[in-house]
Amino acid sequence: MDKFIYLDNAATTKTSPTVVEAMLPYFSEYYGNASGIYGIGVKSREAVNRSREIIASTIGARPEEIYFTAGGTESDNWALKAAAEMFCSFRADNTEAGLLHGSNAENSAGLGHSDQKQIKNHLITTKIEHHAILHTCEYLEKAGIEVTYLNVDENGLVRLEELEQAIRPETFLISVMFANNEVGSLQPIREIGEIAKKYGILFHTDAVQAYGQLPIDVEELHIDLMSASAHKLNGPKGVGFLYIRRNLRIRSFMHGGAQERHRRAGTENVPGIVGFGQAAKEAAETMETRAAYETRLRDYLIDRVLKEIPYTRLNGHRTRRLPNNANFSFQFVEGETLLIMLDMEGICGSSGSACTSGSLDPSHVLLALGLPEDIAHGSLRLTLSAETTKEELDITVEKIKQIVERLRVMSPQYEDFRKRLPE
Ligand SMILES: *Cc1c(COP(=O)(O)O)cnc(C)c1O
Repeated sequence: MDKFIYLDNAATTKTSPTVVEAMLPYFSEYYGNASGIYGIGVKSREAVNRSREIIASTIGARPEEIYFTAGGTESDNWALKAAAEMFCSFRADNTEAGLLHGSNAENSAGLGHSDQKQIKNHLITTKIEHHAILHTCEYLEKAGIEVTYLNVDENGLVRLEELEQAIRPETFLISVMFANNEVGSLQPIREIGEIAKKYGILFHTDAVQAYGQLPIDVEELHIDLMSASAHKLNGPKGVGFLYIRRNLRIRSFMHGGAQERHRRAGTENVPGIVGFGQAAKEAAETMETRAAYETRLRDYLIDRVLKEIPYTRLNGHRTRRLPNNANFSFQFVEGETLLIMLDMEGICGSSGSACTSGSLDPSHVLLALGLPEDIAHGSLRLTLSAETTKEELDITVEKIKQIVERLRVMSPQYEDFRKRLPE
């Protein structure tokens, strides 16, 4: 493949060569099942536990609070569905018998079948969550859970007053993402955690974009449940974790063997988990310098684009955003066309989230920020990495400039707009 400029690190990242190197022996040498009692099984188990310890230490958690999953999507599904099951009558076998004597009877403690007051059926999230959260919420709504989707302000930030007003006696969970994957906005997680704690409500955060990029301490931030995924921090795809605060009676999600302390059945993805541990370690070690470097480049990119391309806006907060995220809307330009033309120049960007491209609906995140549909359609997300260079950004800005100009010349809306401009 020809040389290309990769600016879609929010969609996924390159697996770091040292991560691949750490993983390799667990394919071909130490391939034992981590449940095995023989040597190579023990090797696998030890490696899994080492990764668990590394990851726990990066977020101020205990190793036994880390549960490995198959990625961010699974962690999000688990957190929401299992929390719902913990507090209300929603469950797969939604019968009285199920409530009283379900196989997870220990986890329905507090449900107190006869004590209806304990049943809680309301959760609060935001309009700008990843689809792994939003579609899970829609599923839960069909099962009778009530969901409040909080608005965000024009910068993509949750308003704390609105959150507090949304709380009801039946609210069992607040789920607010740490950092948004499209516009990079960083939520007031500490304040949200404090509100959740004050009202005795569980707090989950989808930290898939934030973990490895920003310092996170689950104790300081009062986080009860947290999702993360390895492939967003130069680790392998298909492995993630859910942090579950100790003593939380969240039931298992996958039923089967006794892996992950009976809470997540299935033979451990040992190479993936080893790779995740290595990626987490590298991310923690380089976090500060990487964030400073990426922030500098990000600001350079934002300044140039806003200064040199007219009728352009930056989406998301100017400074309170992920170090590597820039998201623009170009008026009179169709985002998909811009992306295709950038691709022909060897530049990889995105129009929003990887999951929404291919659909013609404008991004739900940009609409929640209050952008009109036509402007939301003309958006471009560029997400940098530690390997991104200023030269690459210079080429990118020049190409965007040329393409936007060309597309505008062809746009009837732009022509109308120009005609109405005072001479
Ligand atoms: C990528 C992403 C996910 C999904 O994670 P996968 O590991 O790809 O399933 C969830 N939430 C956010 C915010 C993401 O950016």
